[in-house]
Amino acid sequence: MEETLNKEVASRKTFAIISHPDAGKTTITEQLLLFGGAIRQAGTVKGKKTGKFAKSDWMEIEKQRGISVTSSVMQFDYNGKRINILDTPGHEDFSEDTYRTLMAVDSAVMVIDSAKGIEPQTKKLFKVCRMRGIPIFTFINKLDRDGKEPLELISELEEVLEIDAYPMNWPIGMGKGLLGLYDIYHQRVEVHRPEVNGKDGERYAPLNEEGEIEGDHPIKHSTLYDRALEDALLLTEAGNEFSREAIADGELTPVFFGSALTNFGVQTFLETYLEFAPGPSEHVTKEEETVSPYEEKFSGFVFKIQANMNPAHRDRIAFVRICSGRFDRGMDVTLARTDKKMKLSNSTQFMAESRETVQHAVAGDIIGLYDTGNFQIGDTIYEDRLNVHFEDLPQFTPEIFMKVNAKNVMKQKSFHKGVQQLVQEGAIQLYKTYHTGDYIIGAVGQLQFEVFQYRMKNEYNSEVVMTPMGNKIARWIAPEDLDENMSSSRNLLVLDRFDQPLFLFENEFATRWFQDKYPDVALQTLL
Ligand code: GDP
Repeated sequence: MEETLNKEVASRKTFAIISHPDAGKTTITEQLLLFGGAIRQAGTVKGKKTGKFAKSDWMEIEKQRGISVTSSVMQFDYNGKRINILDTPGHEDFSEDTYRTLMAVDSAVMVIDSAKGIEPQTKKLFKVCRMRGIPIFTFINKLDRDGKEPLELISELEEVLEIDAYPMNWPIGMGKGLLGLYDIYHQRVEVHRPEVNGKDGERYAPLNEEGEIEGDHPIKHSTLYDRALEDALLLTEAGNEFSREAIADGELTPVFFGSALTNFGVQTFLETYLEFAPGPSEHVTKEEETVSPYEEKFSGFVFKIQANMNPAHRDRIAFVRICSGRFDRGMDVTLARTDKKMKLSNSTQFMAESRETVQHAVAGDIIGLYDTGNFQIGDTIYEDRLNVHFEDLPQFTPEIFMKVNAKNVMKQKSFHKGVQQLVQEGAIQLYKTYHTGDYIIGAVGQLQFEVFQYRMKNEYNSEVVMTPMGNKIARWIAPEDLDENMSSSRNLLVLDRFDQPLFLFENEFATRWFQDKYPDVALQTLL
């Protein structure tokens, strides 16, 4: 029994895929799912592109909004491993949930557009991965198009993200002139369009001891090949050393090149990723004890709650990362925050094309629990007397703010109730102006405001008026530094929901001005 569980846990690889919108995250995800046989055709991942998801109200709403619960967690099997991919939505769908998703994974895959290099959203998400110290694997995409020089991309990655990079393979040409990948790790050249550029249509050309393609090969006749060899030599001499430990510690990112659209280099990436990616990690409790994924008893935490946007169905789905043991449908657990016992009978698992009732899952897996309001973000659940309480999830510094009021002054009660509950649940952050006690809500993405407004109306029967305040830089100060005369329109003094003081600065300039004026006041950020 235990042996089976250990084997199952060891087979799990759970990662988040991060990128800036349009870098090719969806396309590469689809390729991975195709390899795993989890979907049969490309174009099925994004609900908004197809009519396939009109299965329930939930899905109807997801489709309308283009946010899909189904595609936010995907599972497939490959080479004896069970892989869980967690999507991190971008654009206007960006929210604190996006960051929290990164708390539920054991590694991250970063997709970069070779023509664009490192873009802002990648940078933000990357920072959270670094903070967690999880391994980061890089896929530089769209090699079938002309992009930046590979050497330039590598140094940009190292400079902008402050991480060491180790190219696992190297492009021979790009765009129309893409001939292949010089695969240093596998000691072979992976031929792009082997029927055109290969010998006897062979997909791989092995390297000899000198690092040259063995024997005669059409690619060897190209100057692009010489160029790639020169680059590779330069990298071996001047680049970083390969180190499994540095990868595991998140200090060295293995870099892969390829083209998701033409399915070139993706399988190599997947297979190499599986070799180096860690299995389920330990989790730390509030008492600073660690819980091993191989612990027999079940435990997990809620990292995301997705509310149903349909007023007729107020159910929500709480996403749980299993930290230890095995989940079996119908099992009894304790909710650590309230000490309340509950039966986990209404569970769901996320497949590429559907949601299925999950009967069984183990440490490393993600399950969805239908929730009628029991769960909050960060909640721990555990089996029997395991009695663990995982650390709180970090809070992320909001970047956009709105003043918020009840439209109908007669309905203050439901307004306050709704705001309190949504804040507690982690949907939005709440602040009060120091002087007048006005409500201000803060978020990392516009979507959070929309969801807030919608849910206030539908769940609490409270219409809200929101007045945009735009982007602000939020910086906390120590309570003993608080001086109400420091507040101005360019640096508004507010209190967070724990009554901690902070300033909302108009811009960088206002922050610097403040620091010059009050050099002894330390300004702190969350994450
Ligand atoms: P996401 O926003 O990161 O999920 O990006 P998508 O996967 O939706 O891709 C954005 C656009 O880039 C789509 O039009 C894709 O067809 C295109 N695309 C993705 N991968 C590649 C690639 O390897 N080469 C080229 N030329 N286009 C790609």
